[in-house]
Amino acid sequence: MTEAVAAIMPGANQPFSIENVTIDAPQAGEILVDIKAVGVCHSDLVMVSGAFGTQFPAVFGHEGAGIVEAVGAGVTKVAAGDKVLLTFASCGECVRCKDDDPSYCVEFTAMNMLCARPDGSSRVHQHGKDLSANFFGQSSFASKAMASERNVIKLSADADLAALAPLGCGIQTGAGAVMNSLEAKAGQSLVVIGGGSVGLSAVLGGKIAGCSPVILIEPQAYRRDLALSLGADYAIDPMAGDVVAAIRAILPGGVDLLLDTSGHMPTVTASLGMMANKARLGLVGIPGSFDAALPVPMIQWITTGGTVRGIVEGDSNPDTFLPELIAHHAAGRLPFDKFVTTYPFDQINQAIEDAHSGKAIKVVLTF
Ligand SMILES: [Zn+2]
Ligand SMILES: [Zn+2]
Repeated sequence: MTEAVAAIMPGANQPFSIENVTIDAPQAGEILVDIKAVGVCHSDLVMVSGAFGTQFPAVFGHEGAGIVEAVGAGVTKVAAGDKVLLTFASCGECVRCKDDDPSYCVEFTAMNMLCARPDGSSRVHQHGKDLSANFFGQSSFASKAMASERNVIKLSADADLAALAPLGCGIQTGAGAVMNSLEAKAGQSLVVIGGGSVGLSAVLGGKIAGCSPVILIEPQAYRRDLALSLGADYAIDPMAGDVVAAIRAILPGGVDLLLDTSGHMPTVTASLGMMANKARLGLVGIPGSFDAALPVPMIQWITTGGTVRGIVEGDSNPDTFLPELIAHHAAGRLPFDKFVTTYPFDQINQAIEDAHSGKAIKVVLTF
């Protein structure tokens, strides 16, 4: 057992409460990490609402970065003292994992959303009671978190943990959706709907892939300006008029690659009218309802060879894709720090309020 400080969600949509907890010693295959920074991602805010039937009190957080404190039996990937980045969990045994495709692990929901060990037990306790934890195989809204070999990557000794933390989910989702899932190639046109951290990462991924032009659709002016400063060629306000006409004015033949990060159904539905032949539409944004359905015009999509695909974690295989993104960041090609705001961990409620209001785009909490 080790002592830690965690941001506990006591019940649905309550403020986080910073409290002392205890965490088990690592079991076989587990890695106890001293968390130094953790990003706040949209999924954390969805879980806070009680989605997926989470039992409260619970510890969320899934963009942790820190230093390995102890490892369980059989762990060879990292050792105490190593700097590590945490990411989503996967089983390593299923057909998708064996095909280096762990973001579609058949156990993804069980391993990332259910907030317990695979055997149902909890790693995190308070006053003798179990807390829901193991969110994304980590629950890193805490000074210490338990991960496993499948969801850590080792960083260099001089890595800046606060700078790299958000790569573990939001940044790899946006950049990977374009670079991996949509298989962006140089010269293809790219439209991204929504200029939050995932959408802006998608813009950066499009620039890395050589897409041209790269266009962002986003209602908030300062996010449009930010996208332009990050290299987007155009930034369109969907409230200013007919979005399809605005895109067609730039791309008369339609859009090659379109990524929705907004989940805003009217805009996604309208986007079906701006696609080029052989276009690919990627869906990342979570709509407001489980029943949301996209009315794909079948004859148009058959005759133009269009593709619609859902995307989890940017099709990332973290062991290879995260080092690739870290190299792009080091070379100045993935300057996501331009839309990160850092807060001390104990200001988590203020940080989330600022994320909701739009004052902050990507929040990182530091210890
Ligand atoms: Zn799997
Ligand atoms: Zn996330």
